[in-house]
Amino acid sequence: MRPRTKSGAGIGPRRASGRPESWRTNVRRSLKSCPTHEAIPAFPMLAVLLFLSPAVFGWNATGHRIAAAIAYDHLTPAAKQRVDALLEKHPDYATLFIRDAPAEPEARARAAFLAASVWPDVIRGDSRFYDDTRENAKPTPLLPGFPYMARHTNWHYIDIPFSPDGAALEAVKPPNALTELRRILKEINQPGNDLVASYDLPWLIHLEGDVHQPLHCTSRFVQSQPKGDAGGNNVFVTPGRNLHALWDDAAGSDASDAYVNRFAAEITAEFVKRRGRHPRVSKDPKRWVREGFELAKSDVYTFGSGTGSREHPLALPEQYFADARRVARRQLALAGFRLAAILNEQFK
Ligand SMILES: [Zn+2]
Repeated sequence: MRPRTKSGAGIGPRRASGRPESWRTNVRRSLKSCPTHEAIPAFPMLAVLLFLSPAVFGWNATGHRIAAAIAYDHLTPAAKQRVDALLEKHPDYATLFIRDAPAEPEARARAAFLAASVWPDVIRGDSRFYDDTRENAKPTPLLPGFPYMARHTNWHYIDIPFSPDGAALEAVKPPNALTELRRILKEINQPGNDLVASYDLPWLIHLEGDVHQPLHCTSRFVQSQPKGDAGGNNVFVTPGRNLHALWDDAAGSDASDAYVNRFAAEITAEFVKRRGRHPRVSKDPKRWVREGFELAKSDVYTFGSGTGSREHPLALPEQYFADARRVARRQLALAGFRLAAILNEQFK
């Protein structure tokens, strides 16, 4: 919920504000994490960041690109043709989606799809857009090809509340990832609607990925944190990071094609081994979100009701990190197969 304030500033990857670790530090630190709106480069720099650095909030760029790669490689020819055509109509196609993409048409289309998967995070640092969740937000001028210029930072998650210690809960607020996924699935294939559909598609790819990160599906309320933890952004863990960032980065932070493709191939093989070559997967966003919420309770918040603090972070056992990596692998594969399934259904 709430765009976070600086003081709340965890590392708030998914939130409008607040990542105390600056993006500069993170970029330096092996192309890791992402810009916040505090220290955001101007637009030309973004194009570079899109490919070099994983601008993030949600899975980092690595995670989003892995899920997108799996999805793209499982699209039917008809779906591929349609998503390629829609992305080509996106106003940022030439400047961001295919910047530095290979010339060969198929590889180029795939590269555009992967780049589109992080676009909703990239615009958080793009001065053409404005943060509509801020009080007194001043809209930026509407540019050709865009239905609106808001950053929609509150679309990336849904704060389903829970409490392990009887703290009062805050209700889920719209808009959120679930309201937007549902809306997009309803409107993306309507005839004569290509302007909106080309704008919606990167959001669909991105938000579908986001809700497979369990911390995008919850906010935990404890007595000592009555406003909730903003999906783990306000829980501090070793080494010097918050819980949300730990999970965003659980699939690694190398966003290069080589890493992404290798990782995607590995987890696809694991998934196929478990579920078969043509697994039936859920196409219902409500179910994805519900699963994410349950996973958060069962596999993320396994350390009691502590929150840690910047000065005294919780000390998580080594096994915790291994478990997070295992869950992330499974969730990213699932996100990839599910995204393929909904796109194949939409674009027959
Ligand atoms: Zn996101």
